[in-house]
Amino acid sequence: MFDRSRRNLAYWFALSMGSILIVFAGAGYSLAVKEQLRVFDAALYKKSQLIADSLVGNGSDPLPKEMPMWGDRLLINNDLVYVRLYDHKGHLVGFLKDSGQGRLETKPGYQTLQFWGYQNTLTSRVWLRQITIPVMQNKQRIAYLQVAASLTPLQHSLNEARFFLMLGVPTALGIIGVTGWFLGGLAMQPTRRAYEQLQRFTADASHELRAPVAAVLSNAQVGLMPPEDPQEQHQRLQNIVETAKSMSTLIGNLLFLSRNEGQLNPKTLKTIDIVALMQTLISGYTTQAATQNLIFTIQLPEQPIYLKADGELLRQAIVNLLNNAFKYTPPGGTVHLRVVAQSHRTIVQVEDSGIGIPSGDLPHVFERFYRVDTARSRQTGGFGLGLAIAQQIVQAHRGQITATSQVGKGSMFQLELPRGMKHEGVSSREG
Ligand code: ATP
Ligand code: MG
Repeated sequence: MFDRSRRNLAYWFALSMGSILIVFAGAGYSLAVKEQLRVFDAALYKKSQLIADSLVGNGSDPLPKEMPMWGDRLLINNDLVYVRLYDHKGHLVGFLKDSGQGRLETKPGYQTLQFWGYQNTLTSRVWLRQITIPVMQNKQRIAYLQVAASLTPLQHSLNEARFFLMLGVPTALGIIGVTGWFLGGLAMQPTRRAYEQLQRFTADASHELRAPVAAVLSNAQVGLMPPEDPQEQHQRLQNIVETAKSMSTLIGNLLFLSRNEGQLNPKTLKTIDIVALMQTLISGYTTQAATQNLIFTIQLPEQPIYLKADGELLRQAIVNLLNNAFKYTPPGGTVHLRVVAQSHRTIVQVEDSGIGIPSGDLPHVFERFYRVDTARSRQTGGFGLGLAIAQQIVQAHRGQITATSQVGKGSMFQLELPRGMKHEGVSSREG
């Protein structure tokens, strides 16, 4: 699906850019033809004017019958195909190389025409540019001069230009095609990511929900049978309730992950005091510590630390870390919450003296549904989503989450939130 869309994008890109290129190449070529012809005409006009001036300079008889009398000047004009002189009535009075019809048949100005001439003892057809100008003396038109030059040099230079265009345009079209393919890939990336995200959510949800749904079904099926023991019946219903609750938590977590993937809503960003946020958490966990027989200590700065952040999400990330610390620390252990303000960042640490995480598992604990060894996971419950959620929240705030741990000694999870996030985070989302 993505490849087809990418191909379509590349095709339309190449088509539109290719058409623009061809139009520009065509326009450039026709401008080049016009410009070269203008230069050619200007040179031809100059030559004919020189000849006309030399004729008028002859004095009393300005119209010599014999063309060689026109002097050596013409001999250097080898590129001229012919020179013809007509009197003021248009009768031919002299010529060089070719006499034509004997009468002047065109008006003064430029003409492009075909001419049969000798070339290497063969008659061949050449394109000529002909100019006809009046010859004036004492403000009177005394004759007409017609001069023609071969357009072959101009054609050669235009042939070269055409050759380069014929090579250059397909090469450029090829480059445009490759660029289109590359840009198509880039353009498809966000869609591909969104699609993969959706697929992952569907796969995760269906995979994780299959087991609890099967448990609900089997409990319900047995519960529908005539009850032998009312206590057992009650237990089955209790199982269904527990499983449904856990499914609801799972669905909530999955929806949370898919809704907030890498994005923060600029509207929910506020300047919050992270120290005050921590204080709201303390009492709940102090009670929990007493129930679990754990020592819970807190170290907070005395000054407030202001951050531009989504307070609810940050609270969720820290709660997930604290929940883990309480869940994976046996009675008698300690849990320590620490907030440290540094010049460019704020650090939040949750440290425990719990069971720890083996070094092989540590790099994976932030992956969705990753749980270290199934035996202890079954004991503690959970889906393996808490750290994935925490990481997603912290990264959306342009922060980092890291973990260090030693089996049997404890773990430390650390959040690093940039203080300059106020500007970066918001502008990048708004952009
Ligand atoms: P959930 O948070 O979704 O209820 P969970 O706690 O198993 O389930 P995570 O919070 O993502 O999932 O943690 C992933 C795994 O990392 C846990 O299953 C646990 O094995 C290990 N883990 C996380 N925190 C700690 C900790 N403080 N001490 C020891 N192991 C931990
Ligand atoms: Mg957890």
